[in-house]
Amino acid sequence: MLNADLHCHSVISDGTLTPEALAIRAKANGVQLWALTDHDEISGQLRAAAAARAAGLNYLTGVEISVSFLHQTIHIVGLGFDVENLALKIGLQKTRGGRGQRAVEMADDLAKAGIAGAYEGALKFAGNHDLISRTHFARFLVERGVCRDTNEVFRKYLTPGKPGFVEHHWASLKNAVQWITQAGGMAVIAHPARYKLSSTEEFALFTEFKGHGGQGVEVVTGSHSPAEYISYADSAREFGLAASRGSDFHSPDESRTEIGTLPDLPGDLTPVWELLADRIQTASVV
Ligand code: AMP
Ligand code: MN
Ligand code: MN
Ligand code: MN
Repeated sequence: MLNADLHCHSVISDGTLTPEALAIRAKANGVQLWALTDHDEISGQLRAAAAARAAGLNYLTGVEISVSFLHQTIHIVGLGFDVENLALKIGLQKTRGGRGQRAVEMADDLAKAGIAGAYEGALKFAGNHDLISRTHFARFLVERGVCRDTNEVFRKYLTPGKPGFVEHHWASLKNAVQWITQAGGMAVIAHPARYKLSSTEEFALFTEFKGHGGQGVEVVTGSHSPAEYISYADSAREFGLAASRGSDFHSPDESRTEIGTLPDLPGDLTPVWELLADRIQTASVV
């Protein structure tokens, strides 16, 4: 099967590598089709597409949109859209717009827990100041010696009920799916096993997502266990969704899954790239 990696992050959001370094790393790991999917931000797309071409990789445009659904934040990946689409650009700008204020409030909350200077500390790790994220706070808390690694940070801080967590209102599911599809792309539910949804709520997510025009779900992702591959392959069949595959790679030091190294999708599922064939930017040497 094609080695496609359709989910990863660069310094444009909360990854630690540039789009150019990611393209080289993906190529070295045998990736044939790549998408950079920064959070709420597509300003890295032209760089990523050019780097893919230079490395001899086929490319799909990508983004990962933060969505508020019921009591949760969920993520919707967009693939193969037109990066010049105005409604998408404005929608993403609005979605990431609240991050600065949220970061100030997170820092205030951490200060109350005895950790001073977190806003400035996190900002130092943010390659793109418009896209300050919990990951940047996590890196700061590791640097400060508060925790050993970023996983420990998320266990003890920055998550619901813990110091440094600030509730935030992201895009609606309907808007996120429609921005992507109206820009000619495909909307994909990212890492569905990661959400704390009851089975009824998860059914509502898949049903509403389809109703808005969503077409894909991540089945094989760095955020799923092998048992979860099997369970979300079943969801793809049940809801008639195409299947996606992506590492969710953020950093050589932090990510548990290396770019381009996941198992294949189950053979009976329709891979998202089959439906996006005319959106793939082909490199001259592949
Ligand atoms: P934000 O969009 O600012 O809320 O940050 C979300 C990001 O934090 C995710 O995309 C992950 O990169 C990271 N993250 C969330 N939960 C965890 C976790 N338990 N362990 C490591 N990273 C996490
Ligand atoms: Mn992230
Ligand atoms: Mn995600
Ligand atoms: Mn991601």
